[in-house]
Amino acid sequence: MSYAGPSTDACGVVDDLLRFSLHDGPGIRTTVFLKGCPLRCCWCHNPESQRHTAEVFYRSDICRRCGSCRRACGQPASPGASFDRETCRDIAAAATACPTGALQLVGREWTVAQVMHEVTKDADYYRSSGGGLTLSGGEPLMQVSFAAALFDAGRRAGIHTCLDTCGVVPWESFAAVLPLVDLFLFDYKETHPQRHRELAGQDNRLLLQNLDRLCEAGAAVRLRCPLVPGINDSPEHLAGIARLCEQHPTLQGVELMPFHRSGAPRYEHLGREDPLPGYPSASEEDIARWHAALTALPAMSRTPLEFGPERSKARGTSPRSSDSSRIEVSPLCTRSPGAAWRTNSSKTGGSGM
Ligand code: SF4
Repeated sequence: MSYAGPSTDACGVVDDLLRFSLHDGPGIRTTVFLKGCPLRCCWCHNPESQRHTAEVFYRSDICRRCGSCRRACGQPASPGASFDRETCRDIAAAATACPTGALQLVGREWTVAQVMHEVTKDADYYRSSGGGLTLSGGEPLMQVSFAAALFDAGRRAGIHTCLDTCGVVPWESFAAVLPLVDLFLFDYKETHPQRHRELAGQDNRLLLQNLDRLCEAGAAVRLRCPLVPGINDSPEHLAGIARLCEQHPTLQGVELMPFHRSGAPRYEHLGREDPLPGYPSASEEDIARWHAALTALPAMSRTPLEFGPERSKARGTSPRSSDSSRIEVSPLCTRSPGAAWRTNSSKTGGSGM
């Protein structure tokens, strides 16, 4: 299967590509992570996807202090010298010169044709499982032309398309991909607008407007709700989730995404401060409590929402999935940093949120 559409030369900055992803839409999927996000959620587990430009992971634990990275970008390298993020003039050259993998470039330009070359390798699996292509990030619609070209390529190749979005982009960006997306995984992080701003950097008004318009347009939408114990799991927010389901009876489901600490080392490797240092992962008790609280809300029991058959089949082994509640609990993404093309054997998929 190959793509021969008109947009194969379109370029975008890709952070990662995950084959055999099971948590980013129905069936077996390839998830392409695009760099750039308008939000800065304090629980973000993919901080390397926040900035649009390329960055570098530096792992001091496997650095030999050989100085090759410094020499590669024209800096003096005295014995014992190691990577210096502040003075490095060419992170790509430095990462290429590093003999140990202590430096890894995160984010580089790909054309649509290059991405689709990888994506179409698993077309048979998509067909047999009801899977397909998912764009995640970051926020894929920060690179809307590239995202639209990828979805167009997916459609032309007969591949199911899914957008994992934070929702905080102009409506025009959604309008550009609306005819090309089979399923929207739409984040809903906090109900109170000011609290949303405190936690994520922007309030939730724009995303709620976009959700309204997507549902009015008849789009297939599933809510994704990251939940962090003691931070955004208040009864008011859980009630807000139920209210949205009541307002939008066409929503295809609610996916709860419990916080875990898998993203913590990434902050260190990027040389950034972890916004939630030492904060514990959600416990089984937290998850059970959220599940019970949501399923007890009348709005959730009344709303005619269900997982689609493909989704139910693909997620049938989830210990938290429930046909009666229509609520599914899945892990947050546990992508390990660095390697550009990996399979699901080393990590589970998910949203950059
Ligand atoms: S090239 Fe790699 S191993 Fe050598 S000093 Fe730089 S980061 Fe460390």
